[in-house]
Amino acid sequence: MNFSCVTKNPKETKKLAAILVKEILKTKTRGNTFVLGLEGDLGGGKTTFLQGLAKGLGIKQRTTSPTFVILKKYKIQNKRYKIQNFYHIDCYRTQKPKEILDLGFRNIISNPQNIVAIEWADRIKKILPRNTIKINFEFVNQNTRRIIFTT
Ligand code: ADP
Ligand code: MG
Repeated sequence: MNFSCVTKNPKETKKLAAILVKEILKTKTRGNTFVLGLEGDLGGGKTTFLQGLAKGLGIKQRTTSPTFVILKKYKIQNKRYKIQNFYHIDCYRTQKPKEILDLGFRNIISNPQNIVAIEWADRIKKILPRNTIKINFEFVNQNTRRIIFTT
């Protein structure tokens, strides 16, 4: 899968994420953990996208940027999905993959009941699972973003 979308405002970016996560979950098989690797420009819309994704998962709690907190865990209440937790990881300040490994990363990505989204995933390329869905955010102009999905 390789496709791109252009969004014209933050709301569209959130909507795209909510639609996408529902589609992705339909294809989920029992054994695999969903890992999304978000990359691209600062202000590109990665955090905005994940707010829409959290909403699409039925998470009511406000998802703020974890830039100062590397990892945040949200419980998913919605019984319809085969997943229980949404992990939001932000590697913006990460110097070495070990810092993320020390947070129990391997366990997190090996539990199929988790969905894991990683901002600045390129900083921890070496430890990303092979089936990571890459999402690249390009700043086109003030309100326009190009979002490219690669699996
Ligand atoms: P990142 O996490 O990639 O650094 P953020 O989501 O924190 O980016 O910030 C994106 C900023 O760009 C927000 O202030 C948001 O309001 C603004 N913005 C403008 N247009 C868009 C768009 N089409 N999609 C997402 N964000 C947008
Ligand atoms: Mg961010």
